[in-house]
Amino acid sequence: MTFYEDMSPYAYWHRETFTDTTTGCCFLSFQPQYERLNIGWLSGDQPWASGVAPADFIDRLEAVLAVQAVNEMLGLHDCELCPPSEEQPPEWYKPRPGHRRSSAGTGEIRIPGGPGAAFAAPTLIGHYVIDHGYVPPKAFVDAVLAFDPSGHTSAEYPWMRFPWVPTDAVLYDASVE
Ligand SMILES: [Zn+2]
Repeated sequence: MTFYEDMSPYAYWHRETFTDTTTGCCFLSFQPQYERLNIGWLSGDQPWASGVAPADFIDRLEAVLAVQAVNEMLGLHDCELCPPSEEQPPEWYKPRPGHRRSSAGTGEIRIPGGPGAAFAAPTLIGHYVIDHGYVPPKAFVDAVLAFDPSGHTSAEYPWMRFPWVPTDAVLYDASVE
């Protein structure tokens, strides 16, 4: 996976494509009107901070990972911190033995940070934090602790548990095509 330094500007994809895993056939695509800051784009050959993350941070992070799915079409990310496996499970979404979360993932999440800024992390961040002991920058930890996805829905699309959806968002509902 490509490495991006924590807190650097996100430039991977110019639009956002959001869905919610509980309403997975609806997608909202829009040009973000907020700045995006990279968090947790770890690479095997770059240093990263390890330690013990607060338990309530992990709970909140998992709550976001359970509902958000952003930019899923950009492909599968593999964890470079795990040793190469000759027995890469064919079901890539299954955790390896001893792990709680899979070492591969698609998509990203967004956590509102300060005014007009959201953190952009790969969904693999859950695996990094829980299975490898990655501790993200404090600004991100605090933002996750402050963010309750079910309490921050979009006004126009209540199923979208993210507050900053612009009015020109394009809805694609696969269930009615
Ligand atoms: Zn791993």
